[in-house]
Amino acid sequence: MNRIFMNGKFFTADQKNKEANAMIVSNGIVTWVGKEEDMPPVQGEKYDLEGRRVLPGFIDAHLHPLLLAETSKQLACTPPGVTSISGMVQALKKRLKGQGPDSWIEGWGYDEGKLDEGRAPNRHDLDQAASDIPIVLTRTCTHILTVNSKALEIAGITRDTPDPPGGKIDRDKLGEPTGVLRESAADLVKSKMPVKSLEQKAALLAEYSDTFLAKGVTGITEMMGEHNPIDYYDLYKAARKKGLKQRAALYYNWDAFQQFDLHEPAIFDREQPVYIAGIKLFADGSISGQTAWVNPAFLGDGENFGISTTCQEELLAAGEAAKKYGIQLAVHAMGEQAIDQVVDTFYKKADWLDGAPSVRIEHVSLPTEQALRRAAESGIAFVTQPIFLYAEIESYLNNLGEERSRKSYPVKAILEKGIQVAFSSDAPATAWDDPVNPFVGLEAAVNRKAYNGTDIGQEQGIPLETAVELYTKAAQEVTRIPFVGRLAPGYHADFIVLEKDIFKADKAEISSMNVEETYMGGEMVYQKTRV
Ligand SMILES: [Zn+2]
Repeated sequence: MNRIFMNGKFFTADQKNKEANAMIVSNGIVTWVGKEEDMPPVQGEKYDLEGRRVLPGFIDAHLHPLLLAETSKQLACTPPGVTSISGMVQALKKRLKGQGPDSWIEGWGYDEGKLDEGRAPNRHDLDQAASDIPIVLTRTCTHILTVNSKALEIAGITRDTPDPPGGKIDRDKLGEPTGVLRESAADLVKSKMPVKSLEQKAALLAEYSDTFLAKGVTGITEMMGEHNPIDYYDLYKAARKKGLKQRAALYYNWDAFQQFDLHEPAIFDREQPVYIAGIKLFADGSISGQTAWVNPAFLGDGENFGISTTCQEELLAAGEAAKKYGIQLAVHAMGEQAIDQVVDTFYKKADWLDGAPSVRIEHVSLPTEQALRRAAESGIAFVTQPIFLYAEIESYLNNLGEERSRKSYPVKAILEKGIQVAFSSDAPATAWDDPVNPFVGLEAAVNRKAYNGTDIGQEQGIPLETAVELYTKAAQEVTRIPFVGRLAPGYHADFIVLEKDIFKADKAEISSMNVEETYMGGEMVYQKTRV
């Protein structure tokens, strides 16, 4: 069955055939794209796109869909809803009404830089909302929790509890835990929280699929695949059965990957809508949490260079495993030292995949000149998130200062070096109430201005066409989800139709761009209700 899409303004992201106004789709696959007058004679259902702008569906190359689906049910501690700790306490109190006595209260997204009090909430703040029900708030970076006294009690954390390896329990002057738990210390509480069943989680993911489609996202990645207590490959397959439409590439945490029974080669089959794409490791923490492994040190008291969370031996072991199974290694690295460590470890050794990056570095906030040069020479790809600087500008200014902030995420310089780059959102690890929206990232990359208008390094801005390609074609090349990300013969007909022509819009209008229709395999899977 053919479908003929006419009268559109197609941005194909295909170098050989950039602009077109008609496309033929057969059984979900694009068979022809071009100018209407050149169209081969075919029979089929005709669709008039009414002169609207068409883009390939977005691929979010670094994302946490399950977390996103779960947090969508939790209290958002982000602006504009919550702008102070006192407001947070009020919102928590409201949330407590109608909550059963055995349940935990969860919230996400707080960022002390965005709170009137200018500090993170602590257990005494949260105790004002409830002292008998455990409360757990996840900081925007997802690496830090603030919990109340009840949650500390359930986790058995007292002044005598030592910091676990790779983590920190914040303490006040008297040595009492403040309720702030960093990195692996967060697991002390998380391991005590009630677990949802695979079926419940799969249902949440399936439900969230529509939100992705409304933002034009047709390809997703899961960057925190786990094996216990629930295996994420099984989880995503179950979610597909319940209605998850996005193609999904899963990256497993290194610890989880090692627990896996790898006798089933089908799990790595990229032709399947769900497959295991790689192994994920962390080389450091976050800029906003001052746990990224930086050099020079963070601003503030003392010499804080952040935290190193892996070592060369571990990186090499994970690389060996990735090589063995023909998959990628993705390493989270934000600070200069962490990025250098990953690049130096795989310098001229990241070559086990044919025609695709074997190693990808996630975030890449503060790359040194040498790291850029060596990554380019080694074919190491960078997956970065323009929304970070845009939404978290206060944290960057506080922790890095103005000049260093403006030089962070030097996307233009990275591209000029010839490094493969993919854009993504890292949602929900962003202090923004619409974190997955690709248009926010596109505007930030083009405009290099924060949400509040602060200049975040104009000289690193890139053209909008390039930015769109980094969220489509280039995201395909980096994630290796096959035959998506461009509109060309042989590719899946995954595309979106915009309300306005993004290429004619004012730069400051890009973030408020709306998707009117989303198609996957040539079928309409989302339509905005016209008002
Ligand atoms: Zn992430």
